[in-house]
Amino acid sequence: MTTSTPTSAILGAIAADPRFVEIRRDIHAHPEIAFEEHRTAARVAEELRAWGWTVTTGIGGTGVVGTLSKGAGTRSIGLRADMDALAMDEVNTFAHRSRHAGRMHACGHDGHTAILLAAAWYLSHHAEFDGTIHCIFQPAEEGGQAGARAMIEDGLFTRFPCDAVFGLHNWPDLPAGEFGVRAGPFMGSSNRFRIDVTGKGAHASQPELSIDPLVCASHILLALQSVISRNREPQDAAVLSVTQIHGGAAVNVIPEQAWLGGTVRTHEAGTLDMIERRMNEIVAGAGATFGCEATLTFERCYPCLVNDPGQTAFALDVLRDTVGEARVHGNIARLMGSEDFSFMLEARPGCYVMLGIGDGTHRASGHGAGPCLLHNPSYDFNDAVIPDGAAYFVQLAQRFLAQP
Ligand SMILES: [Zn+2]
Ligand SMILES: [Zn+2]
Repeated sequence: MTTSTPTSAILGAIAADPRFVEIRRDIHAHPEIAFEEHRTAARVAEELRAWGWTVTTGIGGTGVVGTLSKGAGTRSIGLRADMDALAMDEVNTFAHRSRHAGRMHACGHDGHTAILLAAAWYLSHHAEFDGTIHCIFQPAEEGGQAGARAMIEDGLFTRFPCDAVFGLHNWPDLPAGEFGVRAGPFMGSSNRFRIDVTGKGAHASQPELSIDPLVCASHILLALQSVISRNREPQDAAVLSVTQIHGGAAVNVIPEQAWLGGTVRTHEAGTLDMIERRMNEIVAGAGATFGCEATLTFERCYPCLVNDPGQTAFALDVLRDTVGEARVHGNIARLMGSEDFSFMLEARPGCYVMLGIGDGTHRASGHGAGPCLLHNPSYDFNDAVIPDGAAYFVQLAQRFLAQP
């Protein structure tokens, strides 16, 4: 059994070493999107190997796992970071701006990767622990591509058994260096749907010869509004948005077909089941009413992110030790955004926390005019919080593995 290292020692050692800011900015300057993170994965693997970690590459595409064992302990922990960037242009002009048009680290996954590397460096050089640590660097968190699921399907947790998994995301809504988390359902599920309506085309002057798919589609769109307003429990947040409606190409033609598309977000899996069931009933009912063939295709993308209550209590305890009670918020509001770490939390108990990066005053000169929001072309990760995030991971690993 080992005791954890004092936080001040971890923070000091990581803050004093410029390499992690250099790594973060190097990754920022060379953003790669879903399943194309070849350069990023190579840099991650190179650093881990140099620090004595056993490295496995190519898991779920471009995923990397670094493994380090010490002592005779049989417990194991997974620490996860995402590596992918977004398909968008950066407007910042500072030295570490994106070198690639249409590619930008606007969600701070460059920072997450640097934080986990800093923790890996510290754990291999300074920290005593007893057991096995797996540092999981995943591809393709963005855009519904589910790099986490790809790694799990490639045997992540059978090849690298983890008793629990932990991750974090930077969060501009919180002051720099403060942490926010919530036990239980924390982030939303994301789902997409398409409704195809087929009728019978005819001359617009002869509607009696047609079966008009536009009228049927319009009734479906309006009836869907009743799912959130009439079927959902009011305290339970959920979104159902029809964001596309297509059909027809000429003023004098009643078309054969129309289709609707949109998204559904929920915090509870049961609510999602209810919404999908009601959508099926409404689509089938409207089809029967108007004589159209109407079908719903409903695709569940990312499930609700649910923090394990026990592991969240443990993470909160570690966080309070790491940055002090005043900088830890243990019951922040649920978020409607989604995150594919939810797949890992379905497979293993664990906890996902938010790490504040502040209001954007950290930005170097040459940043764009916009706010420092996630997915904004002016965004830049706040390097000042790398030690906070890394110290949390270090103490999490030490204390988790020291448990009986
Ligand atoms: Zn994002
Ligand atoms: Zn993100």
